[in-house]
Amino acid sequence: MNKLVIASNNAGKLREFQHMLEPLGIEVLTQAELGISEAEEPHCTFIENALAKARHVSRLSGKPALADDSGICVEALGGAPGVLSARYAGEPKSDRRNNDKLLQTLLGVTDRRAHYYCVLVLVLHAEDPQPLIAEGEWHGEIAHEERGDGGFGYDPMFWLPELGKMSSELSHEEKAKISHRAKALNILLSKLKIK
Ligand code: IMP
Repeated sequence: MNKLVIASNNAGKLREFQHMLEPLGIEVLTQAELGISEAEEPHCTFIENALAKARHVSRLSGKPALADDSGICVEALGGAPGVLSARYAGEPKSDRRNNDKLLQTLLGVTDRRAHYYCVLVLVLHAEDPQPLIAEGEWHGEIAHEERGDGGFGYDPMFWLPELGKMSSELSHEEKAKISHRAKALNILLSKLKIK
């Protein structure tokens, strides 16, 4: 398996997968470059959405597909925005509006604990009965204002107390060692016996 289609159009996720997989000799193709439309994500769990995305892209590309469904879960909001993270402030998807809405919603809230969650699903073909599945979490806090210009999505407000930095202030290499996505990918790669 030296070519993998990533079932996502999220530029931030794609950059991270390229950084993590290409050094291992795995060529990353994107669904956009193959002209594949976005899958529906109608489900209320990350795993169901990830499976739907992986099967959709594998069916249309005829290749193995890796899907990532991820989001940020805020303790004081009972885990929201969770699976709705990409569309927290409605359509069309906008990181700017999502971040503004989260800061606004948490005004006056003192419990700022939150975690990123990522589930990865790898299918070798569209009907694969044994998808490989791996999960990762990354714990931190929602800051009171944004800082830093790295990463994507909620990174400018995801505070890592033990590092004294926002996740947007980490280098690619640092984020690729400790993020929810990196943790899930390492588990997946060890299941594939690649790492
Ligand atoms: P999905 O494409 O439906 O899985 O939505 C994922 C959403 O979760 C993204 O659009 C971001 O809003 C958020 N998210 C997931 N992972 C990260 C991350 O590493 N940094 C910042 N935001 C993230």
